[in-house]
Amino acid sequence: AYKGSSYEQILKTRRNHLTPNLLAHFKKPLVIHAGHMQWLYDHEGRRYLDMFGGIVTVSVGHCHPKVNQALSEQTAKLWHTTNIYMHPKIHEYAERLVAKFPGNLKSVCFVNSGSEANDLAMLMARLHTGNQDILSLRNCYHGMSPYTMGLTAHSTWRFPLPGVNNGLVHVMNPDPYQGIWGGSNCRDSPVQTNRDCQCAVGCQASDAYYNELEETFKYSLPRGKVAAMFAESIQGVGGTVQFPKGYLKRAAALVRANGGLFVADEVQTGFGRTGEHFWGFEGHDYLPDIVTMAKGIGNGFPLAAVVTTPEIAASLGQALHFNTYGGNPMASAVGIAVLDVIEEEQLQRNSLEVGTYFLTGLAKLQQRFEIIGDVRGKGLMIGVELVGNREKRTPLATPHVLDIWEKCKDLGVLFGRGGLHGNVLRIKPPMCITLADANFAVDVLARAITESLPENN
Ligand code: PMP
Repeated sequence: AYKGSSYEQILKTRRNHLTPNLLAHFKKPLVIHAGHMQWLYDHEGRRYLDMFGGIVTVSVGHCHPKVNQALSEQTAKLWHTTNIYMHPKIHEYAERLVAKFPGNLKSVCFVNSGSEANDLAMLMARLHTGNQDILSLRNCYHGMSPYTMGLTAHSTWRFPLPGVNNGLVHVMNPDPYQGIWGGSNCRDSPVQTNRDCQCAVGCQASDAYYNELEETFKYSLPRGKVAAMFAESIQGVGGTVQFPKGYLKRAAALVRANGGLFVADEVQTGFGRTGEHFWGFEGHDYLPDIVTMAKGIGNGFPLAAVVTTPEIAASLGQALHFNTYGGNPMASAVGIAVLDVIEEEQLQRNSLEVGTYFLTGLAKLQQRFEIIGDVRGKGLMIGVELVGNREKRTPLATPHVLDIWEKCKDLGVLFGRGGLHGNVLRIKPPMCITLADANFAVDVLARAITESLPENN
């Protein structure tokens, strides 16, 4: 049982002393004081099925015993050296992590958050190419540091500051459901489950978005002088947006032809989450020049990394580059344990199996409820888009979305929310969930919709 401050006291402290920019989830916010695998416990001991994993961060399970053990063994031995002396763990971990990458992606720099990782990738790309301009897709989220805030192209997360957009270009988002050129030919009929958008190269939507990218190069950018393009493999914060097949592969070739590097942001899609592959970019059949990762890499421990080729990494040799905590012994011990658990418990395979089953269950709900406009995703990276009008794909009004979302919480399931209009339920749980958990979540969502919008039955 929880014996700390009262619920009221916690709310009061939050109101009076914590930064007001902390996200306030739910009308009656949750106080979580313990977690175990896919479960979270509130201050009254109520148990919740965690379908969001602290925003896709808890990859192998809350307080996973093996990760806990690795961390506590390391804390008893050594916390910190700032890498001014060598410690064995960072070396062991670097070997393990780069072994997960194809091609010449063999050099790693450890940092502490996704924003830092993307900051560093921007810096490397600019130093390596000698170019300034970086492209990203509208609706993407790459971080909140002053550098990455500009890269993030999602109005919800943008502050009106001069210089934020310096050297950054946001291009049309190849979104087959809400995008301007849609992809209606590939998303209208039968519900797609557990695969990339099946638009082949040559499909109308894929071509339209790619042509727009080509036009941007032609008209707006100094020829042959681009530093990089960034993309998530499936947009996370943007609402689980999957790109038409072939788009990223062709975009990467175009960026390279213009002197730039392609950066895959695997902060949400890495570490087996998409099921079919360990890295999301592998599902798009191309090899990036730089890969950034955070969140699931540490199962909730502050740890992130940039992996690239030795040649690109060498660009940082022009001056000293320093990070106090990057790759510290505790983070490295956790990182190794996370990789061990993913392998030993075959969590990538579990993501594929449970994810496919989950998507199929949600697709059945879509047939039952008009307000479920789209069910999409891959593995345990799932989105359920709620709409007011299915034909026009208009987002469901926010109060209804909030109502359904909160009801799910009251019924014991925590979903995330995202998308430009906040109308996409995001399902990205710890990868240890079971078929029974998927069933429970689908049942809870059905009941929440029925109770919130009885006319939808
Ligand atoms: N990239 C992506 C795809 C993310 O989802 C996030 C966080 N939501 C980040 C980068 C930034 O990570 P952090 O919050 O650790 O800085």
